[in-house]
Amino acid sequence: MKNILVTGGAGFIGSHLSEKLLAEGNHVICVDNFFTGSRKNIDHLLDNREFELIRHDIIEPILLQVDQIYNLACPASPIHYQINAIKTIKTNVIGVTNMLDLADETKARILQASTSEVYGDPDVHPQKESYWGNVNPIGLRSCYDEGKRVAEALMMDYHRQHNVDIRIIRIFNTYGPRMAENDGRVVSNFILQALKNQDITINGDGSQTRSFCYVDDLVRGMIALMNKEDFMGPVNVGNDGEYTIKQLAEMIIELTGSKSKIVYTPLPSDDPCKRRPDLTLAKEVLGYEPTVHIKDGLLKTIEYFESIL
Ligand code: NAD
Ligand code: UDP
Repeated sequence: MKNILVTGGAGFIGSHLSEKLLAEGNHVICVDNFFTGSRKNIDHLLDNREFELIRHDIIEPILLQVDQIYNLACPASPIHYQINAIKTIKTNVIGVTNMLDLADETKARILQASTSEVYGDPDVHPQKESYWGNVNPIGLRSCYDEGKRVAEALMMDYHRQHNVDIRIIRIFNTYGPRMAENDGRVVSNFILQALKNQDITINGDGSQTRSFCYVDDLVRGMIALMNKEDFMGPVNVGNDGEYTIKQLAEMIIELTGSKSKIVYTPLPSDDPCKRRPDLTLAKEVLGYEPTVHIKDGLLKTIEYFESIL
């Protein structure tokens, strides 16, 4: 049994990760400030004696005796991370520094949830870990993109200067049950619109692409990376099936049997045109393969949103 800290544990991915770590027999300490996370996501874990919940903002230091740290605390949806952009940067700089200091002090291994956004609007396709990215440093998304890039730099510098045991995972668009209703990301937006027979809002002409990973696949990849010896990444984890946003809208209309119509809304600035992970490294080093087909994952997510509406 390990003592594992999951920051952002009340969020979408963090709640699934905590659930899996508990099922594997670990003690989980969830630290969350509840900005985008919710108690609802972890209600079913609160009775478990091996689960502890601490309301805390990682911008403030915290001292806990732990063996592993999964640092997921950071809003992930563009709508949410732009509400308080300065806070998003602080979470990725001061917050990540606090978690690295904690790892240094307790000799814990730390895994940082990085993102495909470090590649920005990529001019290399699909994206390999060796690609340095194409990020606008002063745009609306930079609080998140550049924040996560600094977080990666901090991880590497703590490793080089203090020999901290680090892991960096670059997560590609992940979806599934427990995405917040007001999350604003494309999968939850389209499913909710379809279930309510409201217009489906495609930004731009819908030709931009994304590669969508079901949350269970991602969590498996995260745990595999954390427990892999002699490999710190960065490594891409996701699903390499690539779809246009228009195809996604059509799939969701079909799977829900919705009467919704598609409408086109302006494309936000710096919205990446295409995105697909090159998963060669994850396959080679972690034996990672995504297993959930998009239609199966969408059906599970639709079922979840039907149950909460
Ligand atoms: P989410 O918004 O559901 O979860 C983030 C959690 O962190 C929430 O519970 C929130 O309350 C908490 N949080 C935010 N700032 C905090 C702070 N300063 N202190 C303590 N807690 C704080 O998002 P998610 O989709 O579950 O994403 C989790 C992590 O994975 C994030 O770091 C995100 O950047 C990364 N990621 C997610 C995706 C994706 O597609 N979902 C893709 C790439 C990277
Ligand atoms: N998007 C859209 N309609 C929505 C929400 C998002 O067309 O209601 C688009 C968005 O502009 C982007 C893609 O879907 O091109 C993925 O957006 P999301 O916010 O889910 O993730 P990210 O842009 O961070 O990859």
